[in-house]
Amino acid sequence: MGKYDNMKYNRCGDSGVLLPGISLGLWHNFGTDAVYSNCREMILKSFDLGIIHFDIANNYGPLPGSAEETFGRIFKNELTAHRDELLIASKAGFNMSEGPFGEWGSKKHLLNSLDKSLKRTGLEYFDIFYHHRPDPNTHLDETIDALEYALRSGKALYVGVSNYSPEQTKEVIEACKKRNIRLLIHQMNYNMFDRSSEDIVDVLDSYSIGSIAYCPLAQGMLTNRYLGGIPDGSRAATEGTFLKRDNVTEDKLAKVRALSELAGKRGQTLAQMALAWVLQRATSAIIGASKFLQIEENVRALDNTHFSKDELAAIEKILI
Ligand code: NDP
Repeated sequence: MGKYDNMKYNRCGDSGVLLPGISLGLWHNFGTDAVYSNCREMILKSFDLGIIHFDIANNYGPLPGSAEETFGRIFKNELTAHRDELLIASKAGFNMSEGPFGEWGSKKHLLNSLDKSLKRTGLEYFDIFYHHRPDPNTHLDETIDALEYALRSGKALYVGVSNYSPEQTKEVIEACKKRNIRLLIHQMNYNMFDRSSEDIVDVLDSYSIGSIAYCPLAQGMLTNRYLGGIPDGSRAATEGTFLKRDNVTEDKLAKVRALSELAGKRGQTLAQMALAWVLQRATSAIIGASKFLQIEENVRALDNTHFSKDELAAIEKILI
């Protein structure tokens, strides 16, 4: 059996793109503070498991840009022969550099950033280029101008948006249709603790457009990572991350313990059950990881993505 027989691939809406059920994101643990050999192991062994989709952004690090550089180094050294098998995404829109064009949704920011991201990764094109967050001060038409240019110039094969509200998502889909381009995907925050993106999926479903869930494990809370307290080296123990010690509350941990018990009855770990749960609505779940063992465990979520009515009801009861 080859790696492609072991991975489950899901069609992204009604497009030609098949995404692995589990994708890997480089937001954390791939910057200048990371150990290169560990990054290399995570990327290459993920690929061996059939994880062909890697999600990056211009500003991932620290320092901003360094996760793209790390990926570029691994790609250049060991993956160039596999370029046609890989789906590599980058994004622009969050704060990246100094000055008025260092972030948001202007054509100038998006296209400058796209060129810089291509340079850092050493790629000729991205498979998916995202606008990372809506810009309240730039007309949507200008942002879409940039996405359209990315497509027509061949610098991106597909385009997507992230963190757009349901209304903004509808607006961008309609605007793309008028220009005869397609929005491939929406990247949204979605996990058992944060279900605010379900309204977005309703919109996407009505247009047969795919979705990809970020932070599907609530940055590690929906795993066994914090059951015994906050361990050294974990995200919550690291300064400057978005998961603060204060986020790991007793109330959350009580839910985590109950969910973990339920997962055990399904023959899964909590991380596996949390990912299977997300995949009920999302085309793919982008996990993060600090070591390959986590990825290996998480991919096995795909062995059982079915939930009985009773299991779903039990989960609802815990999450209330
Ligand atoms: P997750 O919710 O998957 O959290 C990942 C963290 O959970 C890991 O770093 C690790 O923490 C812990 N973990 C993962 N698996 C296990 C396991 N089996 N056992 C124990 N702990 C585990 O996702 P992220 O928050 O990392 O986000 C994933 C990706 O989503 C990002 O890399 C990025 O690509 C994308 N993203 C996009 C955003 C957007 O605005 N579009 C915003 C945020 C993320 P530890 O490091 O402590 O070991």
